[in-house]
Amino acid sequence: MEKLLSTKPARTRFAPSPTGRMHIGNARSALYPFLLARRLGGQFILRIEDTDQKRYEPGAEQELINGLRWLGLQYDEGPDIGGPHSPYRQSERRAIYHEHAWKLVEMEKAFACFCTPDRLDKVRQEQMKNKQNPRYDGTCRALDSAEARRRVDAGEKYVIRFKMPKEGSITTADLLRGSITTENSALDDSVLLKSDGLPTYHLAAMVDDHLMEITHVIRGSEWLPSMPLHIHIIRAFGWDEPVFAHLSVFLKPSGKGKMSKRDRAEAMKDGYSIFLGDMQELGYTPEGVLNWIALMGWGVPEDDVMTLDRMIERFSIDSLTPSPAAINFQKLDHFNATHIRLMRTDDLAARLKPYFTREGLNFRDDVLLKMIPLLRERLVTLDDCISFGAFFFKDEVTPNPEDLIAKGLDAKQSAEIARRAYQILGAQPDISHERSEPPMRAYVEESGFSANQVFGILRVAVTGQKVSPPLFESMEIIGRDVCLKRIQNAIDVLEKITS
Ligand code: GLU
Repeated sequence: MEKLLSTKPARTRFAPSPTGRMHIGNARSALYPFLLARRLGGQFILRIEDTDQKRYEPGAEQELINGLRWLGLQYDEGPDIGGPHSPYRQSERRAIYHEHAWKLVEMEKAFACFCTPDRLDKVRQEQMKNKQNPRYDGTCRALDSAEARRRVDAGEKYVIRFKMPKEGSITTADLLRGSITTENSALDDSVLLKSDGLPTYHLAAMVDDHLMEITHVIRGSEWLPSMPLHIHIIRAFGWDEPVFAHLSVFLKPSGKGKMSKRDRAEAMKDGYSIFLGDMQELGYTPEGVLNWIALMGWGVPEDDVMTLDRMIERFSIDSLTPSPAAINFQKLDHFNATHIRLMRTDDLAARLKPYFTREGLNFRDDVLLKMIPLLRERLVTLDDCISFGAFFFKDEVTPNPEDLIAKGLDAKQSAEIARRAYQILGAQPDISHERSEPPMRAYVEESGFSANQVFGILRVAVTGQKVSPPLFESMEIIGRDVCLKRIQNAIDVLEKITS
């Protein structure tokens, strides 16, 4: 049966609740349904599940939209672009849920419940005292539906609960885990419509997945325990069941438990984050992030480097795995660096440019294009371009005076080396690396100083830093005059120390 489902066009959705910042769990919950819809030639839908008013956060929806856009996970229908099943924001679909909840009441599959929170609380306490599972005690189950309607019309506060069968069992199938049979007696009369008139996730998601003709529900494993209720709801309406796949959970890097606030703060100190907005700031690329999250829950070899297009070609829902995935930031670095290496030069240049311009440097496009072959291999994150390459765009560099003194030498000897370098390079009409490197190497030979000492001084003088891209190639890009000016400045600094 699965083979058949896997080849027909699919309608899939990403259905986040706008309750906080977009993190890698959200991104993965969007990626797999996106891949499936693209693989099978269907539609990928964004639905905003904003029915929990207490947890609602303004701005969260926009952050989700921005995150999807950044990752390149373009949806075909959604709150900002509309579509045949508009609206795509659940808070705007109240009437639909109402109608469906009451339909279930009429079919005697659900009932209106007028129990007060106080009474329910007492019942719960009592159950817990008797070591029973807390659940609804059934008081309003037997109410006649006409009577219930009258009380509702009279303005009494109510919720609508699912009328869980007392007997029998239900078998549900999760694509990654197989089928699970649950005794109905273990299930509760769960609330479908809350007293504020908004639906719970259980009702809203089932109604929308049906009305929006979703074929595959790919969602977090926290919903696995509610699946029997969900299938009960779908069957009560007599609808077709979509395929369900519950994704594995993410574990913190140690492999033990979920990331806590403290773990997140620790990660941030090391330059890592699980939030997409931060990752973007930290210089991660959508390609690197996507590759990293794709492999956390998809049974392809762990070091497979894939672009989004390649993922679409290779994706199969059958190869998702239920095993928990530990967050490994080193792997993120690996994929990010790898994708930077694979980028076209002009593409990489366009992405590096904002990092340079926001530093207020004297930025030049032609210089950046020349720098890229020197920088590319050294970048793990895009913002590394600043620590490696800001000196290309500075009017002046201000090396740390101690760094100008080579290891094993004093300031006088270092000044001597800098003066010789100035002469040698000054004698060249240009300082292409072909021209400047041989005479400098000859000087190393004849002077008895080591290459590390001589080139170390030159590097600090010209770049202002101890680590840089290849020295002679960098000098070529900076140009003869600027290099000589910087070496002269180093000589002055060293002479000031010796005088
Ligand atoms: N709104 C739910 C959540 O964010 C969505 C689960 C689903 O995909 O059905 O957890």
